[in-house]
Amino acid sequence: MTALAELLARRIAATGPITVAEYMVECLLHPAHGYYSTRDPFGVQGDFTTAPEISQMFGELAGLCLAGAWLDQGRPDGITLAEIGPGRGTLMADILRATRGVPGFHAALSVHLIEASPLLRARQQETLARFDVHWAESVTALPEAPLYLIANEFFDALPIRQFLRDANGWRERVVGLDGAALAFGLSAPAPLAALAHRLADTKPGDLVETCTAAQPIMAEIAGRIARHGGAALVIDYGDWHSLGDTLQALSQHGHIAPLARPGESDLTAHVDFEALALAAPEVAHSRLTPQGIWLERLGIAARAETLAQNLTGAALTSHLAAHRRLTHPSEMGSVFKAMAFHPKGTLPPPGFAA
Ligand code: SAH
Repeated sequence: MTALAELLARRIAATGPITVAEYMVECLLHPAHGYYSTRDPFGVQGDFTTAPEISQMFGELAGLCLAGAWLDQGRPDGITLAEIGPGRGTLMADILRATRGVPGFHAALSVHLIEASPLLRARQQETLARFDVHWAESVTALPEAPLYLIANEFFDALPIRQFLRDANGWRERVVGLDGAALAFGLSAPAPLAALAHRLADTKPGDLVETCTAAQPIMAEIAGRIARHGGAALVIDYGDWHSLGDTLQALSQHGHIAPLARPGESDLTAHVDFEALALAAPEVAHSRLTPQGIWLERLGIAARAETLAQNLTGAALTSHLAAHRRLTHPSEMGSVFKAMAFHPKGTLPPPGFAA
């Protein structure tokens, strides 16, 4: 049993079952035992590898996409370049390196990162030591200015609640106890106004997920883009309109049961992009685009070829594998999706279709 499992079991014994969302928050961000609070989970040694950690090409192309949107919008001054959930800071470092050559872009921007984990904040500080970077507690603290923002594998880390439909309404999936061990259970059925719109596309026995934390975050981002201009790129695994249980735990690059090692495995859920779009009605959004197609439209093949020219042996083999991993439909190319938010009446950023 992990230290956090013992704490949670005691709490549940005292005050009753907790929601899946409460369980996720404790597992990911508990100050002493939370997954992101206590470790740097990325890379070969860690539990999972994100796209920017696989290849510099991801951040370079994402950076050029954001800079392209900035050029299309008439090169506004005093802009915010922001990332939510920046991990090791690798993605922002690649974005800044790739956009150095875009005339006026760096002079126009200030960099803002939103990170919940003090440990990862310190890591980002190291990676981005050469730049003047501001850390914000939440998106509400971002300046009222044109906002060019990226969120890669951020929304999947936000807590979700799960509801099982039955004949008499919805039963929430909760984490309770089976003896001393954590176990899933179901609350009593209740009609739920917030899920009324899911009655039409579900039947008894179906499970739906909601991510209430995503809505206010998306709304803050969209508000700035609607008022001042900018663009937000959201990249994550998920789909338009989610259905079914997508809660998953990763440890050392493999799946484990979500209740098996609380605090010591990463917990995520697929992102419901429709819900993000519904939270941002004052801006336009692009079509939901498979990551592989988005990167191909941005020119990953040509960039990969250029980089390959300087590589031989094992470095070349791993570069070719990284290109494939980011784009191939059987790897990250189609499970991961990208979507852009931009002001109404403007073009979607490069690589996206309206
Ligand atoms: N974007 C990075 C890292 C993705 S992992 C990359 O692509 O490599 C998720 C990141 O979100 C981590 O940095 C984690 O600490 C952060 N995070 C998780 N929940 C958060 C929250 N509620 N607020 C801010 N950051 C959060």
